[in-house]
Amino acid sequence: MTSRPNFYKRCVPLALHGDGVPLTGVGKSWQNTITDFSFYSLLGEGKTPDLLMFVYCLFDKLRKMGRDSTATAHRFFEILRWSFRIIWSGTWPSHDYNGRKYKPGSEEAKKAGKPLADGWYGILFSFCGDLDYYHSLLDLPNSRTASGPCTLCRTTKYGPLSWQDYRSTAGWRTTCHTPASWSAQDDKSSCPLFGLPFVTGVNVCYDWLHCKYVGSDQYMYGALLRLLCFHVLADTAEKNMQAFWSRLKYEYKRHGTPIQFRYLNTIKMFLKKTGVAKLRGKAAEIKYLAAPFSAVWEHFKNPHLSLHADISLLLKLNKLIEDILIERKGEVSLGEDATRFEEALNAFLSLQSKVASCLQEASGENMMAITEKAHFLQHSAMLSKYLSPRLVWVFGGEDQQRRVQCLGKSAVKGNGPTKAVLKMVSKYRMALHFQFQTHDG
Ligand SMILES: [Zn+2]
Repeated sequence: MTSRPNFYKRCVPLALHGDGVPLTGVGKSWQNTITDFSFYSLLGEGKTPDLLMFVYCLFDKLRKMGRDSTATAHRFFEILRWSFRIIWSGTWPSHDYNGRKYKPGSEEAKKAGKPLADGWYGILFSFCGDLDYYHSLLDLPNSRTASGPCTLCRTTKYGPLSWQDYRSTAGWRTTCHTPASWSAQDDKSSCPLFGLPFVTGVNVCYDWLHCKYVGSDQYMYGALLRLLCFHVLADTAEKNMQAFWSRLKYEYKRHGTPIQFRYLNTIKMFLKKTGVAKLRGKAAEIKYLAAPFSAVWEHFKNPHLSLHADISLLLKLNKLIEDILIERKGEVSLGEDATRFEEALNAFLSLQSKVASCLQEASGENMMAITEKAHFLQHSAMLSKYLSPRLVWVFGGEDQQRRVQCLGKSAVKGNGPTKAVLKMVSKYRMALHFQFQTHDG
């Protein structure tokens, strides 16, 4: 990016966001999904739904799988690569995405070589999306593989490079990729976007929302609620949960929590028929649980038990991490808070691992699950001195999902876009024509 002398004033860093959207049969075994692609400026101000620009959507059931140009996703990414090359050049193209020169005298040929956006240009700076999207669409490592779950380093589940080491001295930290070391790998992604100059796996950003709120936090809160309801409080589990809920409502009010659980008053909210406890809830409800939950724990804990003291500290560290993210809203990086943020996260994860082992020793079963997502949070924290986790998380994605659902449903019916869809398309400047262009591909 810095090879262009005016990049500081004229280059717009862009993020490409991908997400699966349920279309029909939501929650059923025959559920149909579409994958939605949109992009946004990392320097844009305002609400995420207004920043996201729709690019394309893909009906997952109609997708031809594969790792070459005949595969649907790869073909789409080839066309998108052409688009990003043009955005980087800052001038209108002379050739179409198949490499054919525009006919002399055509509208396209007349524009060729002229400035695209009055001297502005852009660069694909960050990928964002959830772990399934990275693996299934971008052909990046499967996050559940023990031998190499991470795009950004060479960590493994076990051994000297284990991601289960959260300390600042952990072995995996010496294996973090540079663009050159990532590109030199034999088994790297076949996704055509990585053929762009300056774009490698190092541009991948792990999403704080999916890794923490609807990831590791769900297991942590699930295990702590189970501990409270079945071991700490004296009454039946359901009555204990009622007691927890009334205390939580009290703390919600005292903290003025902006987004609250509507009901968290039954053990069904965290207990499943099989497997470890996992709190259900929306990402925003779980995000804003940090402060009130910590206060509820202080109220119910046994001050004489060292495990309870460890949990107290764990929840306070969690609150500190979330407070920094709230305080730094609207900023590109976490600035001078980045080191504090990273150290607090390292301490939080190390302590979480200790608490999980203590719970396992005491109960004889795995009570608090810890997954690779903990490791991905560490990468977000390492990056935070340059790029805030807030810029690459996908809050506000729900509004975009609703729009894409509306668009997708109108396509399924085969009647073409309704008036409501056309209104939405013009309001959000969705590039519908792009989808039609790909039909010959
Ligand atoms: Zn890693």
